[in-house]
Amino acid sequence: MTVINQGIKSVNIQKCFVCGSGGVDLYSGMRDRLFGAPGVWSISRCSNALCGFMWLNPQPLPEDTGKLYTGTYYTHKPPEYSRLKRLTRRLKQGGFGRLVWSSMYHQGEKKGRLLEVGSGAGYYLNEMRGLGWTVEGVDFDDGAVKCAKDAYGLNVQRGTLKQCCFPDNTFDAITANHVLEHIHDPFSLLKECLRILKPGGCLVVTCPNAKSLGHKLFKDACYHLDPPRHLYAFTNDSLKALARKAGLKVLSARSTVNAARHIFTTSREIRRIGKSPQEYMPSKFERALGVLFMAIELITLIVNKDAGEELVLVARKNR
Ligand SMILES: [Zn+2]
Repeated sequence: MTVINQGIKSVNIQKCFVCGSGGVDLYSGMRDRLFGAPGVWSISRCSNALCGFMWLNPQPLPEDTGKLYTGTYYTHKPPEYSRLKRLTRRLKQGGFGRLVWSSMYHQGEKKGRLLEVGSGAGYYLNEMRGLGWTVEGVDFDDGAVKCAKDAYGLNVQRGTLKQCCFPDNTFDAITANHVLEHIHDPFSLLKECLRILKPGGCLVVTCPNAKSLGHKLFKDACYHLDPPRHLYAFTNDSLKALARKAGLKVLSARSTVNAARHIFTTSREIRRIGKSPQEYMPSKFERALGVLFMAIELITLIVNKDAGEELVLVARKNR
């Protein structure tokens, strides 16, 4: 049944998108903490403990989703850094890219055609192009597409992945960084990725982890829940299950401490004042606490591989 949630057309979701079990309300009375978009939201969690998938409830209908992304949404502009910061960031990102992609590709495999779904302002694609990949992107956001073209001269299409109508077996690699939690039908997206991957091609998906240490610590104040833009929150198990259901062969799925410092400082601010304005800059002391949190999370990962803030799934299309 459609409900009007402060002007946002929404619908109540009773069942888990991944396993079909019923849901229980985990949090209620939540509002947008970052951009002040309208609506009051709950988050439900799958009652199947082996799944643990979470979803925003009610869920905004696709036709009203645009109202949840304001003009200052952070994928719209490339980050402004000093020359030194740009250089260190480039090294770090290049290193991260190498790490992720070398974990996908065995030694000696050639770098081919790479698609990023949800390419945002284009800095990831730009880095990957620098590492030798032939890169393309797709993003539903006008501002982000314009930025990726203007700032980096990238080949990026505006729209959904389906709208791009890529032929079967097109890409050697596809990446979707923090996309699945934003879209209504992540299952169809995974199936479409499978279709356009070449046999043997790889898909890398990253998204927030519903079982992370940060979520355990901050509960409804956890930055990564990001209501109402995050429609879903995956666990390692539910992400693997959905990828397998879509026909992908899961090679690895784990959690990492990526963004743990930022999640700590921002969640702390949300818990303190109920929101985290974009201009919020944590103090030196808070940043030091963030480093400490990340170190604790790293140690926790030794005994609990599900403790990290970010999930990374690597899957392959069968040859
Ligand atoms: Zn479930």
